[in-house]
Amino acid sequence: MSFLTIADIKTRYGPVEALRGVDLDVNEGSIVVLLGPNGAGKSTLFGCLLGTVLPDSGEIQIREQPITADARRQFGYLAERVTLYPQRTVRENAEYIARLKGIDPGVIDDSLRRVGLEDLRERKTSQLSKGQLQRAGLAIALAGRPQLLVLDEPFNGLDPLVLEMFLETVREERERGATILISTHTISAAEEIATHAAILLDGKLAASGSIEELREQFPGHSLESIYHRVAKNRVKKSMEAMAA
Ligand code: ATP
Repeated sequence: MSFLTIADIKTRYGPVEALRGVDLDVNEGSIVVLLGPNGAGKSTLFGCLLGTVLPDSGEIQIREQPITADARRQFGYLAERVTLYPQRTVRENAEYIARLKGIDPGVIDDSLRRVGLEDLRERKTSQLSKGQLQRAGLAIALAGRPQLLVLDEPFNGLDPLVLEMFLETVREERERGATILISTHTISAAEEIATHAAILLDGKLAASGSIEELREQFPGHSLESIYHRVAKNRVKKSMEAMAA
């Protein structure tokens, strides 16, 4: 069943056409990796989903109903740059966000344990390393067992062990029944967990489908190599169009 439907989303920032009509159907319980070069529109698309960016047109539905502010509040979100109150502890930040989402703040202990941060729960977030801050962000996203997890560049700057823990956590979340959207440039890691992939180029989807469908279209290619072929093909086509 389709959990999330993104239909013909267009977004401009002044003269910049960030999204030029994006359609994406996300099945319940899937792990969709959103790939695309810098500036392709991945964060903007997530912004539209989360309600921080207002699209100029198009529609987003959850379970075939227009998305609501209440539904958005329940999403688990890990931002590309985790921003927490620096002078507050990991626990205080996590409890604060849990309360905003209407979740029992008691659940954050379990989330912090899952990402291995239980010993740092009383540390100010200004004193965390980048990877630790990323783990705190993931713990906060997991709190309350969200139905949709949106992870924007979650693998950046992680050491290999923490990366493995992130991948395992995403797998566990899927087993629990969550639907997961991940934007990333770390394609080989994403391929280990992805059920679907979508490739965004210049604000439009250039390819999307299940990993099996994409492998059938590009036999013998890894997701990384499929991505490169789709991206190069698009550049070639636009150069041909300019020359015509
Ligand atoms: P990256 O991989 O670098 O994070 P992205 O795919 O997430 O990139 P977006 O951040 O969504 O890309 O940006 C899409 C386009 O919109 C880019 O051309 C960017 O410069 C532009 N853009 C993004 N945010 C704004 C803004 N607040 N004001 C104006 N232009 C913006």
